[in-house]
Amino acid sequence: IVLKIEDFRKIEDLPEDFDYDILLKLLIIGGSGPGKSSILKRFVDNNFPLSIIATIGIDFKKNFLELIGKIIKLQIWDTAGQERFRTVTTAYYKGAMGFMIVYDITDRYSFDNIPAFLRDVDRWGSPNAPKILIGNKCDLEKEREVSKEEAQKFADKIGIPFIETSAKQNINIDESFFLLTKVILEIPNFYNN
Ligand code: GDP
Repeated sequence: IVLKIEDFRKIEDLPEDFDYDILLKLLIIGGSGPGKSSILKRFVDNNFPLSIIATIGIDFKKNFLELIGKIIKLQIWDTAGQERFRTVTTAYYKGAMGFMIVYDITDRYSFDNIPAFLRDVDRWGSPNAPKILIGNKCDLEKEREVSKEEAQKFADKIGIPFIETSAKQNINIDESFFLLTKVILEIPNFYNN
């Protein structure tokens, strides 16, 4: 099947134990500081905190989507980017059905590190796991260090979707979760089961 981003809708305020149709476990990875926690907070709580407590090891939140009458529950795990937590978070790679790999468009180093995270997914998750590449902080155009074209070219080369976001200005945040959900549901036979 081929789904469209416009087919998805975020549902607010469903009780935690709502009887969903599909459960998807997602993992957000990337270095330290590209905005992983902010993206998750924006998506789930619809706000951008002025200060955020750094994730220690791993944290999780959930949210619901609707897709043509089906209710999809997303269970989203946010990892700490710091190297010292790497062994803590590897266990979560196995259970994840999709990965958001986040870099900061104003931080060249965070982009150059993406291949290391791709290797982590291959090693601790599964080699064909659905993934999307996210360039966050697109509101900081003046400080940009990674062009959209370069990132798109890289994403095309490895064959994964790419999207630029801003957790701060709420640009493409819902869309990026819709996109990853779409990639997972488009796996042959996934949706029919
Ligand atoms: P994490 O370590 O990847 O979870 O990153 P955080 O979510 O803790 O964010 C790191 C810093 O970047 C914080 O100071 C955030 O306020 C800031 N930040 C996150 N997202 C954005 C964004 O879209 N735009 C801007 N300008 N700052 C952001």
